[in-house]
Amino acid sequence: MIEPRGMISLEEARERILGQVSVLEAEDAPLLTALGQVLARDVPSHLNIPPLDNSAMDGYAVRAVDTSGASTESPRFLRVIGEVAAGAMPSEEVQPGTAVRIMTGAPVPSGADAVVQFEDTDETRRAQPIREIGVMRPADLGQHIRRAGEDIRRGAVVLRAGTSVGPAQVGVMASLGMTTAPVVRRPVVAVLATGDELVEVGRPLGPGQIYNSNLYSLAAQVLRYGGIPKLLGIARDTLSDLSRKVEEGLSADMLITSAGVSVGTYDVVKDVLAQRGEISFWTVRMKPGKPLAFGTFPAEAGKRRVPHLGLPGNPVSSMICFEQFARPAILKMMGYTNFEKPSVRAILEDEVVNRDGRRVFARAVVTKREGRYYASLTGPQGSGILTSMAQANGLAIIPEDVSRAKPGEEVLVELLDGPMAC
Ligand code: AMP
Ligand code: MG
Repeated sequence: MIEPRGMISLEEARERILGQVSVLEAEDAPLLTALGQVLARDVPSHLNIPPLDNSAMDGYAVRAVDTSGASTESPRFLRVIGEVAAGAMPSEEVQPGTAVRIMTGAPVPSGADAVVQFEDTDETRRAQPIREIGVMRPADLGQHIRRAGEDIRRGAVVLRAGTSVGPAQVGVMASLGMTTAPVVRRPVVAVLATGDELVEVGRPLGPGQIYNSNLYSLAAQVLRYGGIPKLLGIARDTLSDLSRKVEEGLSADMLITSAGVSVGTYDVVKDVLAQRGEISFWTVRMKPGKPLAFGTFPAEAGKRRVPHLGLPGNPVSSMICFEQFARPAILKMMGYTNFEKPSVRAILEDEVVNRDGRRVFARAVVTKREGRYYASLTGPQGSGILTSMAQANGLAIIPEDVSRAKPGEEVLVELLDGPMAC
């Protein structure tokens, strides 16, 4: 089915794409590779953490009552009956008038109800082996004792389904002894460049030829947002080559093609896509990146339809359209529900002219000076000037209804991953 061309908003395009994309299945991923994935189910604890009451300080486990009235001038002297290190179990019980030397993380011996840190004792003045200790400050009941289960209680849900796995979540699962995390699997995203002018990197360039850079910038974006890129290389602008390469992409969870969506060059791609799947060609009210194709391919037996996003060929357009459309699709497949890009409000330092009522994404360098953000353009903004992306750490957004944004005006800037030039 081929829809008539029509100008649609960026939001409408994104909504239609997300409507055809669903959350993938769960997998058990090794703990570290799960970083950035989303938990597919709740993680309960079968442990108390910490497992036992233990000391938060290096010091002496005591009975708080034995230290009452202690001061530097008038220490309370306790008999030292033993020592316990982290990982060991205490063998002595703290009786009235006694103390056990204790290390951070070591279980608190029975009978003790407080820990006095070394600094509050006269230990440095005593010769080894220490048989007696002077406590120079009264201890509060429970002082410097970490209670069993105070972090994680056995049976409790520690991490909820839908949580994204960051370093702290990795740590929490490791503290439960887990080696894998139950997460939504990462999508495999096939990336295919099209065009007769393209040469694979590492090969010599012929006259009029250019290197296939889009394959790499797009695959890098797939990786950056958590997907697994499957590089399909270059399809020539012929029906047979394109058909064959598209076929290879259908084992993936999504297919992204670059180029061939602008009027004039599209015919071959269009024929292939229309033959095989369902496709719409959109003119999205955005700049750069007006022409966009989106459709789905019938799946292999027993699998879901494969969404296909046809990005424009211009290197900047393809990257910006990726940010706006492929990124949320990848995040949705991974189980994310928030697709907002981090953004700041910044003061524009250059003029941006918006001639034809589209939403302009201007490549900008965002700096912070005296507590305010500023955005200056990275230079020429042509959609073929990839270095303008390479220098940018943000995309300044000029809305459809603003025909001219002037220096000094405040604009919203979506942040890219580039270094924050400060
Ligand atoms: P097209 O959409 O085929 O009209 O391509 C638009 C522009 O993007 C042309 O200048 C192409 O040479 C360029 N282009 C297309 N594909 C790539 C690619 N894979 N890498 C770099 N530039 C490309
Ligand atoms: Mg082309």
